[in-house]
Amino acid sequence: MQRKATFQFMYELNDFLQKKNRNQSITYVYKEAPSIKDAIEAIGIPHPEVAIILANNQSVSFDYKINNLDEIKVFPYYHKMDIQDIVSIKPLGKARFILDVHLGGLARYLRMAGFDVLYNNEDWGDKYIADRGGKEKRIVLTRDVGLLKRSSVVFGYYLRKKDSYEQFKEVTERYRLNAHFDPFTRCIRCNGAIEKVSKTEIIDKLEPGTIEEYNEFWQCIGCKQIYWKGSHYNRMLELMK
Ligand SMILES: [Zn+2]
Repeated sequence: MQRKATFQFMYELNDFLQKKNRNQSITYVYKEAPSIKDAIEAIGIPHPEVAIILANNQSVSFDYKINNLDEIKVFPYYHKMDIQDIVSIKPLGKARFILDVHLGGLARYLRMAGFDVLYNNEDWGDKYIADRGGKEKRIVLTRDVGLLKRSSVVFGYYLRKKDSYEQFKEVTERYRLNAHFDPFTRCIRCNGAIEKVSKTEIIDKLEPGTIEEYNEFWQCIGCKQIYWKGSHYNRMLELMK
């Protein structure tokens, strides 16, 4: 026998629907009751984007089996709704990330702000990123809906924007990162820890102009890259404001 349920997707979850289906009830027809997680993904929404599911106004989890004529509402992590504290699945402590390939620009911004960001443009496939993200409780950031739908992904976000600076703003807002900005703690190149060094220790590695203009320096304990508060830093301060 054919059964059906109606779905309503709230706010930004509509980004994953075809234009004609946005902001209205969607009828979902099925024969054998699927889990609500499978139904949501079949309609097109990757599960890490979902914060709250209501079936007939009762909160349910991903393994809830759909019943005939269920009325289902699905909510995203919406930055204007204060729901971070009441959802059962949430990142513990400071957000850590793993990024899909081609997101090198975003990786740089996040590391600049002090976040632990794994990124490798050459060797990592979807499966590796999903599995490692799930295992290490990292937030997977991607523009590939298929990657987010992998079952090993626990936390994840689909980037709406293409420009890396805009993506950084998007992620900052989505995960409320502002309060956790900690610049000059993370190497932009290798994600290693950076520490303050005295100018005399590294002066032979600096350009004359830099020696003249700056007095505070930091160095990566991994790859030895040297940092100072130049233009990138000022740009980030602008964003933090
Ligand atoms: Zn480094």
